[in-house]
Amino acid sequence: MAGSADVVVAGGGVIGLSAAWLSAEEGISVRVVDPAPGRGAAWVAGGMLAPVAEATFGEEALVGLFLDAAARWPAFAARLTEATGMETGFQQCGTVAVALDASDRAEIDQLLDFRHELGLDTSRLSSSECRSLVPGLSPAIRGGALMPGEQQVDNRAVVLALVEACTRAGVDLVAERVASVSVGRDGAADGVVTQGGTLIPAGTVVLAAGAETPRIGGVPAAVVPPVRPVKGHVVRLQTAGTHQAFDHIVRGLVHGHHCYLVPRADGSVVLGATSEERGYETTVRAGAVHMLLDDARLLLPGIDEWELLECIAGLRPGSPDNAPFVGPTAVPNLVLATGHYRNGFLLTPITAEAVAAYLATGSIPPPLDAFPADRHLAAAPPAGA
Ligand SMILES: Cc1cc2nc3c(=O)[nH]c(=O)nc-3n(C[C@H](O)[C@H](O)[C@H](O)COP(=O)(O)OP(=O)(O)OC[C@H]3O[C@@H](n4cnc5c(N)ncnc54)[C@H](O)[C@@H]3O)c2cc1C
Repeated sequence: MAGSADVVVAGGGVIGLSAAWLSAEEGISVRVVDPAPGRGAAWVAGGMLAPVAEATFGEEALVGLFLDAAARWPAFAARLTEATGMETGFQQCGTVAVALDASDRAEIDQLLDFRHELGLDTSRLSSSECRSLVPGLSPAIRGGALMPGEQQVDNRAVVLALVEACTRAGVDLVAERVASVSVGRDGAADGVVTQGGTLIPAGTVVLAAGAETPRIGGVPAAVVPPVRPVKGHVVRLQTAGTHQAFDHIVRGLVHGHHCYLVPRADGSVVLGATSEERGYETTVRAGAVHMLLDDARLLLPGIDEWELLECIAGLRPGSPDNAPFVGPTAVPNLVLATGHYRNGFLLTPITAEAVAAYLATGSIPPPLDAFPADRHLAAAPPAGA
C-alpha cells in the first residue's frame, strides 16, 4: 500500500464500489477497504429497480428521487459493461403486482389510486390479464396491476462488474476491516484504522459500510448516522429451463404478506423477502424460508418442481425516513454514503454520481441535496428538552 490516497472508502458494497469507481474515473485516487467486497446486502438483494412499486403512502418525497435514480440506470449499466466487458443483467422487464384474496385486491387498488394521483405509470389488471402476462400464475389470483417501466439488474453480476471496474480504474482494494475513523488534532478525518491497527491515511473518508456503518468507531455520536439493520431472507430457485421463466417481476400480496419473484435470464428466480428487526444477525431461519415458499407456491404452484439453489439472509441499511444519508458531516473530510435501505441498487448510480461530484466540487447535486446527511440532527429534540 503506497502513500496516502485522496479518498478512502470504508465498505465496498454496491454503494462504496460504485462511488469509488466513478470518483477514480474523475482522476481522484481512491482506496476501498473491505474484507469481502460485494458480499454484504448487495449479494443477497433482489436487484429490482422499482420506483413505482416502492412508491407508498407517506413517502411522496422519495418518489421523485426514485424516478430520477431509475432513469440513470440504462446509461450506468451500459457504462459499466463498456468499462469491463461484463454483463449486468439490466433489463426493463416491468412488474406485475398480483393479489391472492379480496382484501389483497383492495390493498392493491388503494395503492393504484395513490400512484395514479402521483402520475405514475401503472394500470389495473384483471385476473386473466395477470395470468396471460405471467404464465403459471394460479387461477385463484384476484387480479393486480401492471408497472411497465420497472427494471432489474442481476445484483451479483453488478457487484462483480464493479470490482472489475474499480480495478481497471486504478482503485486500490484493501482486504481489511475498518475499526475506526482516524480524526486528527484539527478535528478533521484523516484516514481509517483497520482492525489490525494499520492507519490508512487519506484526504477524505467516505463511510459506506451499509448496515455496519454505525459500528465503525472514532465518529462523534452526533455524526453517527441513525442506520439500523433490517434483516431480509431470500430463496434462490432454478426452473427446469435455462431461459427466463417469465418476462415480468412478480410482486405478490398473499393474505396480507408481501413477496416477490424476480426472474433472471438464466432461468433462476429470486424469491424474497422477509423484513425483520433482529439486530446484527444473518442466520437463515427455517420459519422464514417456509413462509416465503408457502406464499410463493400459492401464487405459482409450479415452483414445487423447481430446484432449491440457496437460502440466504442479509441486512438492509434502514434509515428512519427510508431515505439515504449521502454527503458531508460535521466532521471535516468525513462523508456518508449509507442508509439506502430497500433501494440500494435503485439508488446506486445517483449516489455514486453524487459522491464523485461532491469529491470534485464540494457540493452534493440535486435531487440528493434535498436529503442532507445530517438531517436527523434537525429532527432531534434539543438537549435537555
Ligand atoms: C433481502 C434483500 C433484498 C433486497 N432487494 C433489493 C432490491 O430488489 N432492489 C434494491 O435496490 N435494493 C435491494 N436491497 C437493498 C440493497 O441490497 C442495499 O440497500 C444495498 O446493498 C446497500 O448497499 P451498501 O453498499 O450500502 O451496503 P452493503 O451492500 O451491505 O455493503 C456493505 C459493505 O461494507 C462492508 N463492511 C461492513 N463493515 C465493514 C467494516 N467495518 N470495514 C470495512 N468494510 C465493512 C461489507 O463487507 C460490505 O461489502 C435488498 C436488500 C436485502 C437484504
